[in-house]
Amino acid sequence: MAQFSKEELSFVEDLPKHVEIECPVCLNVLTDPYIVSCCGYNFCGSCFEIVKASINGSCPMCKEKEYQAIPDKKCSRIINGLEVYCSNKEKGCQWKGELKNISTHRNKEKREGECQYEEVKCRYKKCRERKQRRYLKDHEDNKCLQRPFECQYCKIKHTFVSITEYHYDRCRQYPVTCPKKCSSTTMPRYKITENIHINECPLEPVDCQFDEYLPKSLKIFGKLTYKAITWPTNRERDVKVDTDVPLLGDTESTYQPLPHDILNGIISCEGTLPQGVIKIELARHMTFMIDTATIYT
Ligand SMILES: [Zn+2]
Ligand SMILES: [Zn+2]
Ligand SMILES: [Zn+2]
Ligand SMILES: [Zn+2]
Ligand SMILES: [Zn+2]
Ligand SMILES: [Zn+2]
Repeated sequence: MAQFSKEELSFVEDLPKHVEIECPVCLNVLTDPYIVSCCGYNFCGSCFEIVKASINGSCPMCKEKEYQAIPDKKCSRIINGLEVYCSNKEKGCQWKGELKNISTHRNKEKREGECQYEEVKCRYKKCRERKQRRYLKDHEDNKCLQRPFECQYCKIKHTFVSITEYHYDRCRQYPVTCPKKCSSTTMPRYKITENIHINECPLEPVDCQFDEYLPKSLKIFGKLTYKAITWPTNRERDVKVDTDVPLLGDTESTYQPLPHDILNGIISCEGTLPQGVIKIELARHMTFMIDTATIYT
């Protein structure tokens, strides 16, 4: 029987007045009590062993050197038979039983045990948390920061805290977005860190492969008419632009090879539109135009 102090136990009935249930040596409730012949006190069996082995071995109560000690079966029966509530009664445990059974019921410090309200340590060594048994499984399976955890991106295994707080910042497979914020959806991080995405990112500046189409002057104007679809009515109409429209505004413009699909949408145009060159932000430069007009192709 594990040792309990009197204060730790909650007795169902008042304690018998004629029996001292506390050991004068360890001050816990007597365990396997012995009785001494000198003064008649009881000690736990294990406490008595310690006394006997000590330097003078005299009785701790009356200091007598010569005495006999025998197991006190009657005292043992009385103590073992005392009815107690579970020490976790306050937390909700309904158990009530003989003192001799409480240690089995509580099974202190062990993960497994009958009492679901007993606080025990989480199974993972690094975790300092203590939980009532009834919450332990959920803690260990779903909440413990030290539980084994697998990175869902690269399948590496470690503790939950190290995967989520350290590994995710470094994982090669972790989904990230383009730092230039291009329209690509997420991609594994290594595509960025290993300069793979840079080759496919439309926002990455590249040398123009169509040098031959580049106009000498970066300002090209045209008078033109084109079909526009107005938003939100979705009606198509011809738009005539009487002023010079900058077809190519600045060096930031994007050059597209053969933009015939767009150029073909232009019905008429004074002068020659340079082949292969289109001002992408055409609409913004047109003084009267609604921003949502699109070139009809
Ligand atoms: Zn004595
Ligand atoms: Zn004792
Ligand atoms: Zn209990
Ligand atoms: Zn834990
Ligand atoms: Zn990973
Ligand atoms: Zn990109």
